[in-house]
Amino acid sequence: MTGRIRWQSARSILSPVSGFLREAGFTHSLTPSRNCTFGCTYCYVPTMRVHGGLKREDWEHWGQFTTFKENAAALLAKELRPDMAIYCSPLTDPYQPAEAEVRMMPVLLEAVHARPPRRFVIQTRGTLVLRDIELLRHPSIRVSFSITTDDDTIRRRFEPHCAPVAERVAALSALSAAGIAAFATLAPLLPCDPEALTSLAVRATPNALVGDPLHVRAVKPGGATTRPGAFRILDHHRQSEYADPAWQAGLIERLRAAAARHGRRFGVGPEAFGWLAE
Ligand code: SF4
Repeated sequence: MTGRIRWQSARSILSPVSGFLREAGFTHSLTPSRNCTFGCTYCYVPTMRVHGGLKREDWEHWGQFTTFKENAAALLAKELRPDMAIYCSPLTDPYQPAEAEVRMMPVLLEAVHARPPRRFVIQTRGTLVLRDIELLRHPSIRVSFSITTDDDTIRRRFEPHCAPVAERVAALSALSAAGIAAFATLAPLLPCDPEALTSLAVRATPNALVGDPLHVRAVKPGGATTRPGAFRILDHHRQSEYADPAWQAGLIERLRAAAARHGRRFGVGPEAFGWLAE
């Protein structure tokens, strides 16, 4: 294995979606690179293996390198259509650390400005998104910003290469203050104080709150699921209830009630992700 950043040519850049994203109202996904240098311990993408378009070295060395699609912008300019609702990305974070060097997103966003789809949703936890704030000002573009816990000790355990909670809340606030349609995505839900997490989110965005618990095989027998590393961390810290579907349902209800007290909607699954696609 050589190099943290690699390049490869792609045959196409927009993929028709099925399942969860289709149910949410998206038509296509855009994945600018394979593998993600955030390398979160719970990331479901490497569990998809070839079904996530990965090569063996991607799932065996998740987070250690990433392969950008060198012709992504040219392909996007050709493939964009006005009726599309695009999710960027279910398979990588478009503002992963490697993007600071590569600067692919500004070029992709310029293509979106030139030929706007109905909706273009950026899913990220990268505060680097602020670099492109001027290019995010477009009625088709929304940013779904992941904040997974209110507790930075927990954040360090599960996603040590992601920005601290306070910096992420500040980034979401800055996007909102700039007039960009920015949403707090409380997903996957890591150990947290649900009322405190809700308070952070409602202060940072005026929009509905989107959530999702850690995926577990007990309720999802096939397809993508949480990486084993995250379950080991939960076990080690005696917090395995966060992987118990019944307990997760209670957590979701606490978040829903907390959001309602702030006059906000909170939802999970395709229904809530559908609010991004609207
Ligand atoms: S940022 Fe998203 S795609 Fe990247 S490793 Fe974390 S969960 Fe996976």
